[in-house]
Amino acid sequence: ENRNLFAALRAAFPQDLDAVAVETETGLHYSWRDLERGTAMIANLLDSLGIEPGARIAVQVEKSVEAMMLYLATLRAGYVFLPLNTAYQKAEIEYFVGNAEPAVVVCSPANFGWVSKIAFQAGTQHVFTLGDDRNGSLLERAARQSDRHQPAQRGDDDLAAILYTSGTTGRSKGAMLTHGNLLSNAEVLKTYWGWREGDVLIHALPIFHVHGLFVALHGALLNGSKIIWFSKFDPKKVIERMVDATVFMGVPTLYVRMLAESRLNKVVARNMRLFISGSAPLLLETFNEWKERTGHTILERYGMSETIMLTSNPYDEKDGERRGGTVGFPLPGVGVRVRDDQGKEVPAGEIGGIQVKGPNVFKGYWRMPEKTKEEFTADGWFKTGDVGKIDERGYVTIVGRSKDLIISGGYNVYPAEIEGYINDMPGVAESAVVGVPHPDFGEVGVAVVIPKPGAAIEADQLLSTLKSQLANFKIPKRCFVVQELPRNTMGKVQKNLLREQHKTLFA
Ligand code: ATP
Ligand code: MG
Repeated sequence: ENRNLFAALRAAFPQDLDAVAVETETGLHYSWRDLERGTAMIANLLDSLGIEPGARIAVQVEKSVEAMMLYLATLRAGYVFLPLNTAYQKAEIEYFVGNAEPAVVVCSPANFGWVSKIAFQAGTQHVFTLGDDRNGSLLERAARQSDRHQPAQRGDDDLAAILYTSGTTGRSKGAMLTHGNLLSNAEVLKTYWGWREGDVLIHALPIFHVHGLFVALHGALLNGSKIIWFSKFDPKKVIERMVDATVFMGVPTLYVRMLAESRLNKVVARNMRLFISGSAPLLLETFNEWKERTGHTILERYGMSETIMLTSNPYDEKDGERRGGTVGFPLPGVGVRVRDDQGKEVPAGEIGGIQVKGPNVFKGYWRMPEKTKEEFTADGWFKTGDVGKIDERGYVTIVGRSKDLIISGGYNVYPAEIEGYINDMPGVAESAVVGVPHPDFGEVGVAVVIPKPGAAIEADQLLSTLKSQLANFKIPKRCFVVQELPRNTMGKVQKNLLREQHKTLFA
C-alpha cells in the first residue's frame, strides 16, 4: 500500500473532476482536474532535475493556489517540502537555506536576485521563481512537462515536510514530519470534526505554517471539499463570503478582527457549521462575544509544528460542551499527560509540563540530534514545552510555556493565571505578564496591559486591585499600559521581546 499523503488526498477527489476545487477571492476557478494535472506537471519537473528522494524543496513565495500545488507536487514526487515564512529577510533565509541545504529553492520573482545568491552559496542547484499571478520560471518549466504522474511510493516513516517552528521562544527549529504523521492526523481530524459532503472551507491563513498548510488544506482535500481561497485575510471579504461556506479556521486575532466589523451577525453566519481557533490562546471574551454575535461556539484546539494537532474541544455535543479557555480532549490515538519537574505524574487539575505521544509526533528536529534527545523522555514521550493541566473530565487547559514560567522567591508563578485576572478588569483588552531578573527574588513579574479603545487604565490602581485578589508573590512588581503587544506573523505574543525590553528594570 502506498502511504504517500498525496495519494490519499488524490483518492478523496470527487468523482466529477470538473467540479470546482478552489475558488479564489479574485474570481478564478480551479477544478479538481486542474489540481490533478498541475501537480503532475510540477512533480514531473521536480523528477526531471535528477535530485535524490530525500531532497528538500524550500519555498518562500506569496500565497497562491499554485504555491499549494507546488506543495502537493512535492509530496506526489516524494520530496520533502520546506515552506518558509514570507516575512523572512536575508539573515533568516541565509540561516534556513544554509541549515536545510535544499536541492531546490523556489522564491518570489522580486526576490530572485538575493535569494538565488544565498541558495547557490549553500550548494543549491536549482532556483525557480513563482509569482502570485501564475508567473515565474517554475510554471514556465512545468508547462512543458507531461500532465500525468504516478505518485512516488512512500511509507509511513518517510519524510514529507520540514516545518520550521514559529520562533516564539527562540530560534526556529526544523520539525521533521513524515507521511504517516500527516496522514494519520488528517484522518483523525476528518472524523473528529465531522467533515461531510457539501462542506466548503474558507481558507484565509498563510500556507507556510501547520495551521494553514496542514490542518486547513488536508481537511478540505481529504474530504473533497471546495475551498474559498483568500491570499490575504481581509475581515470584510471573509464575512462577505461566509454565507457560501461551512468551515472556517483562524488564529485568535482573525476572530478579533472580524468581531470589529459591524456586518458580522447571525444572518451572515447562518450556513456555517464550524469555526475553529488555534495557534495561540483564544481569550474567553472573544469566545463569548463570538457566540453572542454569530450564534456559533468556536471550537478551540491545540497543536504545534512538531505534532500537528494534539487536542480538540468536542465537535459533537454528546462528547461534551466546547469549553472556552480550554483546548479540549486529546484526539483519538494521541496520548497527553502532565508531569512535574521530576517527571512524576501530577494529580488531575494540577499544573505541570505537557507531554505527548502518538502517530502524529514528529521524527525529530532537523540536524539537531542533541536537542531532539533532550525533548523526549526515556519512555518516548515528547515534551511540548507547554505547561498545563487536565481536569477530572479530561479537558486540557494550557497555562503557558515552560520558558515563560516565572520563579519568584522560589515560588512558581504562571503568567496565564495573572493575565486572566487582569483581562477581567474593566477597560482591559488584553495583557502579558513576563518575568525579569530581580536582585532579591531572582525573578519578578512585569505586567504589560493593553486598554480597550477609549479606556483609561491606571497602572497602580490595577496592581492594587490585583493585590486584593491574589497572593503577594504573584503580583507583578510593575505595570505598563501600552497600545500593542509585540506579535509574530502567526499572531503569537513574543514574550521574549518583552523580557528583553524590561530586563534591566530592577538590575
Ligand atoms: P517556537 O517553538 O519556535 O518557540 P512556537 O512554539 O510558537 O515557536 P508553533 O509550532 O507554530 O511554534 O506553535 C506551537 C505552540 O503554539 C504550542 O506549543 C502552544 O504553545 C501554542 N498553541 C497552539 N495552539 C494553542 C492554543 N489553542 N492555545 C494556547 N496555545 C496554543
Ligand atoms: Mg514551539
